[in-house]
Amino acid sequence: MATIPIDIKTGNIDNDNSSQTELIVGIDLGTTNSLVAYMRDGAPLCVRVDESSALMPSIVHFTADNEVLTGEAAKEKLLIEPSRTIYSVKRLMGKSYKDVEGFGHKLAYSIIDEDSDSLVKIRVGDRFFTPIELSAQILRALKTRAEAALGQTISKTVITVPAYFNDNQRQATRDAGKLAGLDVLRIVNEPTAAALAYGIGVGAELAQTIAVYDLGGGTFDISILQIQDGIFEVLATNGDTFLGGDDFDKAISKHWLTQLQHAGFPDYEQDKSRLQALRLAAEAAKKALSASAHYNTTLEGVALELSRETFEQLIQPLVQRTLECCANALKDAKLSTTQIDKVVMVGGSTRTPLVKNAVAQFFGKPVFDELNPDEVVALGAAVQADILAGNRRDLLLLDVTPLSLGIETVGGLMDVIMPRNSKVPGKAGRQYTTSVDGQKNLKVSVYQGERDLVAHNRKLGEFTLRGIPPMPAGLPKIEVVFQLDADGILQVKASELRSGVEQQIDIRPTYGISEEQMALMLLDSIAHAETDMKARALLEARNEANNLLLSGRKFLEQNAAILDDAEKAATTSLLDQLQVSVAGEDKDLILANIESLNAYTAPLAHRALDYNIQLALQGQKA
Ligand code: AMP
Repeated sequence: MATIPIDIKTGNIDNDNSSQTELIVGIDLGTTNSLVAYMRDGAPLCVRVDESSALMPSIVHFTADNEVLTGEAAKEKLLIEPSRTIYSVKRLMGKSYKDVEGFGHKLAYSIIDEDSDSLVKIRVGDRFFTPIELSAQILRALKTRAEAALGQTISKTVITVPAYFNDNQRQATRDAGKLAGLDVLRIVNEPTAAALAYGIGVGAELAQTIAVYDLGGGTFDISILQIQDGIFEVLATNGDTFLGGDDFDKAISKHWLTQLQHAGFPDYEQDKSRLQALRLAAEAAKKALSASAHYNTTLEGVALELSRETFEQLIQPLVQRTLECCANALKDAKLSTTQIDKVVMVGGSTRTPLVKNAVAQFFGKPVFDELNPDEVVALGAAVQADILAGNRRDLLLLDVTPLSLGIETVGGLMDVIMPRNSKVPGKAGRQYTTSVDGQKNLKVSVYQGERDLVAHNRKLGEFTLRGIPPMPAGLPKIEVVFQLDADGILQVKASELRSGVEQQIDIRPTYGISEEQMALMLLDSIAHAETDMKARALLEARNEANNLLLSGRKFLEQNAAILDDAEKAATTSLLDQLQVSVAGEDKDLILANIESLNAYTAPLAHRALDYNIQLALQGQKA
């Protein structure tokens, strides 16, 4: 009888990590500026429109006749036509009106309050745009620029986002890429990209912990990352979404405003365009003071000057606020400054010497600042793109599945197809078969988690493979293949190989689950390891017994002619005994009954086989 096995799992399919070789660009889609980078001769380079800057202002302007301007051309309209000129759209990505209540009114364009829980829309004249559509305009402009500069079509890209971006914000960024005609292969955290640009985490190094200090024009982010074997884990993030170089400019403006008022312009601040001129002069002073100790200029005939010393006194409280965020991030990561191995500087405002010095002093080590801080994120995105293109596959294993992925098999068991920490992108599969004669449909339920029973794991989706031609149990060859792409989409495909019927679904395993929940699921599996193991063993014994009961009863039916009454009675009694134990909880009893049944029926099965061969031979002779 043991000769009629029904093995639910019939084999593994080789894993494969797909590769491409075409040019994939990296895009830093920033709040203020955006830029594109690519790899040339093994080094990352930024796409430059002219000799000076690679930066394109992240601004979109709609003319009265609905022509779209982007970048510098749109920036020129910022003061002239503020209600038709959209900036800082990144702040609105994936957000509802409720989310932006605190700052929406600060923007010079109008945000629609349709339903406070739905995603925000921006109104320009009589048209409405989603932040995704506006970001797509910026991405489209970047694509066009890059294509012109590189002389080739670009369709595949890696886009960076802040480490704190949630699922909705990441998905919105992906959608914007799609809308711009780009295939977004990966969304990468900005601090991860910055580290990659410096070659940190590329190649086999010991585990290290780094801090990425990112002070831009309007935002400040500090991220603490742990890097091991090419895997970047965000330990903590902190920051201030309204603190940056613009505040340095404001501090200088305020300082000079008093001088202007004393010099005969008491109402200077009432005039918007004068204020704008003052702000621009202040920014010029700030930039100059990054290289020299003094700065002089004149505004409306009034001589204004600023020493680096005074400037540093003005911005000291702002810099101090960034250090407080750093301290909070370290506290959340349960680390001290001495445990930080490297500090990477990102963002234009880190050019200010006081910022560099204060950060180096805070962490007690020199900072990484050799690369252009405006370009470092895009450069890192290009490195990541190069890895995805398969050009550096020996170097780095960047992304892995945080939790195991598998399907439910008979008895509610989790059958893992892609174990946790599998490489992404990746492919894995297994062959299965049916457990009932003539089974036409097979339900494939996909789960995520580490527990042995699917009931304790997270269900991601399910589908039914229909139309399997009627066959005895065990005969259909059903292949289930999991393919996880670089974008985190899991495609599950089931096909019956004999008949060719197939069915598939696409799932995003990380949708709606936070890092904390994932960590909890892991811890849970450790805590329940022993009970899970016992439960799995019992279920496996039951599955084996059920298969044996099925084939055993069939055997009795089909071979009645060659069995005597005593053999039939003994086999039936052993089958009944097994049936009773299957209903109980005693795994060892089930296994013992399987053993007895197999031992008793093995010679009978041999006899049946011989008899059937003889019959067949006689048939042939006849
Ligand atoms: P980002 O958002 O990273 O492009 O940073 C832009 C900010 O960097 C703006 O506030 C700029 O004024 C500031 N910035 C650019 N160049 C310098 C410089 N040389 N020194 C100080 N700040 C600068």
